[in-house]
Amino acid sequence: MGVARQRVTEVVMRYLGLLLVALAGCGLQVDPVDNNHGYGWQYDAQGPRGLKLRTPMPATEQQASFYENIASTVASCVGTNTETPPPFVIVVAAGSLAPRVGNYYSDPQLIVIDEGWEVIAYEHEVIHWILNGDPDHTSTLWQSGCVLSIPG
Ligand SMILES: [Zn+2]
Repeated sequence: MGVARQRVTEVVMRYLGLLLVALAGCGLQVDPVDNNHGYGWQYDAQGPRGLKLRTPMPATEQQASFYENIASTVASCVGTNTETPPPFVIVVAAGSLAPRVGNYYSDPQLIVIDEGWEVIAYEHEVIHWILNGDPDHTSTLWQSGCVLSIPG
């Protein structure tokens, strides 16, 4: 008992809290292990405007540029004007985020998407990126008709 047991309890409670946050879904605010939300910082390619991309099959600069252009298209569709693309996008194996198909994390900003839902999920998460969160989809941007509603 004493200090060691209290420390174990603190650690367990901390990770339970993080687990609950993780289960809450997209628009997350917490970086659980200060390691790009547990995904690490490695990337395959970087677009001309700085977007870093990692995909199951190593990404190319053209793919990173494609993601930058989609972000610009979504941003202008909803009436925001940004030249800066999302900083980091990771495409993961189909089904690995189930039941979700995409997640947005802030601080540091990260978009993670299921490769089976690639563009649809990405466009949705770009809205979360523009809003820097909004996990409950309360912003009027969701009614813009610019993106589809998905489990993400
Ligand atoms: Zn969402």
